[in-house]
Amino acid sequence: PDVAHRIAAGEVIERPASAVKELVENSLDAGASRVEVEISSGGVSLIRVRDDGSGMTPEDAGRAVGRHATSKIRSVDDLSRVNTLGFRGEALHAIGAVSSLTLTTRPADGECGWRVRVLAGEPAGSGPTAHPLGTTVEVRDLFLNLPVRRGFLGTARAEGNAVARAVEALALSRPEVGFSLRAEGRPVLSLPPAANLRERVAQVHGLAVAGCLLPVSGPAVRGLVSPVSEGFPTRRYLHVTVNGRVVDPESFAPAVAKAYADLLPKGRHPAAFLRVELDPEEVDVNVHPAKRAVRLRGGRSAYPLVVGAVRAALELGGR
Ligand code: ADP
Ligand code: MG
Repeated sequence: PDVAHRIAAGEVIERPASAVKELVENSLDAGASRVEVEISSGGVSLIRVRDDGSGMTPEDAGRAVGRHATSKIRSVDDLSRVNTLGFRGEALHAIGAVSSLTLTTRPADGECGWRVRVLAGEPAGSGPTAHPLGTTVEVRDLFLNLPVRRGFLGTARAEGNAVARAVEALALSRPEVGFSLRAEGRPVLSLPPAANLRERVAQVHGLAVAGCLLPVSGPAVRGLVSPVSEGFPTRRYLHVTVNGRVVDPESFAPAVAKAYADLLPKGRHPAAFLRVELDPEEVDVNVHPAKRAVRLRGGRSAYPLVVGAVRAALELGGR
């Protein structure tokens, strides 16, 4: 592919963690109940995401790696009510443009699996192969043709940590799905399907965090928050989804902080795991693909909803 095309792809995929996020979201959109992630060298030399989702026919597998190939929306109208995580049909193509990508898949009614290869954006063969029901995407040598981008990456350890945070965030958004992450040949995360959000928080952050949490049950905001008697020395325990989509929790941090007013001791932070549900017509997810930004239409803000729901939870929790 030409340089502009490569650079565009590099914008969608900033680092290994963004590729992992896109691949795992595809697995979730395919209805997977288990998602296994494996990385080497922080995800630069290898990312492998395997799921037990719907799989694809050979035709769909070929199409999936093409440009603007999405099976998820059919018209512009659909854009305002996307209920899948992906809808642009850009991610697989973008990853394939800057790596050596192998997609192997088998749908429920498929007799055997099918493999498609792409090398730096060029088709590199396809054919039948054995594969269990579901899909495996293997990405090798990320940014092999974008040396500058590669130069900007952190150490393998830093990139690996970013991958782990991304998988944790996705896992918190879907407690019922099992997740695992192996990095550099060692198990890093092992999250069997959980019964509910509290159980998933316990798997990810431990019982010391999960055990104290109070339920939030506002009209549009549900989830779990720590009581004012428990502050944590880290901001890491903040997780927000909007309509099921993981968003940058930093944009909701002020709303959560406001709900706690100055009830927490200095240097202590709340834990909050929130699921915000809004009319899809009000949410604009079509912002920058690499950013987890969600814009609310018409300047309307979800903040008052969050402040109100968290306050109510803290009051019920007895302060
Ligand atoms: P999008 O998710 O925006 O549709 P992607 O480039 O991420 O675009 O994926 C392209 C298409 O490939 C998807 O619409 C879907 O049909 C198919 N696909 C990708 N990954 C998987 C998967 N793990 N399981 C089943 N289908 C998949
Ligand atoms: Mg996608």
